[in-house]
Amino acid sequence: MRNIDKIYINGEFVTPRGTERQELVNPTTREVFGSLALGNEEDAKIAIAAAKAAFPAFSKTSVQERADMLQRLNDAILARIDELAEANILEYGAPRMLSVPRVQLAAMNLMISKEALKEFEFVHYIGKAKVVSEPVGVMGIITPWNATYSQITAKLGAAIAAGCTVVIKPSEMSGLQTQLLTECFDAAGIPAGVINVVNGLGATVGAELTSNKDIAMINFTGSTRVGKEIRRATVDSMKRVTLELGGKSPYIVLDDADFSKAIPAAVKSCYSNNGQACVAGTRLFVPEHRLEEVKQLARATVESMKVGLPTEADTVLGPIVSEKQYNQVQHYINVGIQEGAELVIGGVGHPEGLEQGNFVKPTVFASVTEDMTIANEEIFGPVLSILTFKTVEEAVEMANNTDYGLGAYISSGNLEKANELASLIQAGSVLINGAGFEMKAPFGGFKHSGIGREYGVHGMKDCLETKTITGFDLPM
Ligand code: NAD
Repeated sequence: MRNIDKIYINGEFVTPRGTERQELVNPTTREVFGSLALGNEEDAKIAIAAAKAAFPAFSKTSVQERADMLQRLNDAILARIDELAEANILEYGAPRMLSVPRVQLAAMNLMISKEALKEFEFVHYIGKAKVVSEPVGVMGIITPWNATYSQITAKLGAAIAAGCTVVIKPSEMSGLQTQLLTECFDAAGIPAGVINVVNGLGATVGAELTSNKDIAMINFTGSTRVGKEIRRATVDSMKRVTLELGGKSPYIVLDDADFSKAIPAAVKSCYSNNGQACVAGTRLFVPEHRLEEVKQLARATVESMKVGLPTEADTVLGPIVSEKQYNQVQHYINVGIQEGAELVIGGVGHPEGLEQGNFVKPTVFASVTEDMTIANEEIFGPVLSILTFKTVEEAVEMANNTDYGLGAYISSGNLEKANELASLIQAGSVLINGAGFEMKAPFGGFKHSGIGREYGVHGMKDCLETKTITGFDLPM
């Protein structure tokens, strides 16, 4: 059994005041493999006090000192890469082939923040004014379950680069991964109180962070529903908020695209992290007259992706993270069928031979119309909706016809056309012809997908206040 009994405050692993515990469940087998001690409001207050006490000294550290700390954090994570990857497999059911790259990505986030320090001028001059960027203060970091390592390090990297101290409240569903990551932070020799990690529920630890007057900024990733709650909860204390929220990203394939590449890429985008990805391309838009070809290609792509035990080297899709999420995915597949979408492949229930864990059948629906639930709501599972368009204008209109605006994907044989389309799409990131994300570039959402931007210089800037000083050079 892996029991996680401590939280991390002021450079020490301590027993929380909170007395509740949460089971840690293996999604591959639905067996309990441990439990997590949950902190409460009081623990959050103690952690905030520690971060507040550490802030004055930390905010005055040099750029070089902070760059060194980011390097040490990176090194500490990479030193335990295999253990972290195993925890990702055990706790999330992540396929082995993805688990190591995930840890590498988490470490890379810290290097991206280190690089941002090289590119940014903390002091510059405008006319007679000296403009100084200062860390905003103590930051509350609240993260979701779907990518614990990289979510935490992206936010932590920006905070450390800026000179902010932090209290991290990770998802309560990632106790083991959080524990290992925190041990890496502890090993990196960061001054006590700069990084604090308090496991707990959103309603207790999360709510304390969002309301406490000593927290200057909340950096949140999670659902749009909770993001809105957080925005409301931070009004009275006038906190700055960065919100990275949900998505229902469009994948537009134009008539002139190479369908043999574009359709498999679209399916894989939707199924990225088993569909448990905010940027998953869940709505595939294709020309109406090519629908039959698209269905065939989509079916063949799904058939080529192995659903299986995450420990097997060739598994592409493991289980869904929890029974609750599994049930949610089943619900949406049922709703898709009831509302009249055409099931191309997949459907309700477990795949054959994988009845024990939270395994779902990767599913593709065609003949999906804009009014259907599956075309509008974030499913967070491997469920692709194919919609058709007659004109490119119609495709753009449908792609934008959502409250979300996180990612968007375009495939076309004509780059000029693709670039023009990109300018019409309401989304924080547009990826053309299978391009990947540029990790140093800003990432975030339009509309209900968020506020603010993460990564690189943009992410760090969101953690800084701007002070304008004039007369600094005048004699008394
Ligand atoms: P969630 O919103 O349920 O929870 C996220 C975090 O918020 C958890 O740590 C939770 O404990 C905490 N929380 C819940 N209620 C709270 C409250 N009232 N006050 C403060 N904190 C509270 O999200 P989830 O189910 O863990 O993650 C999935 C969601 O995250 C999806 O909607 C997905 O799209 C989104 N997401 C977005 C991005 C992005 O970058 N935009 C990345 C990953 C995931």
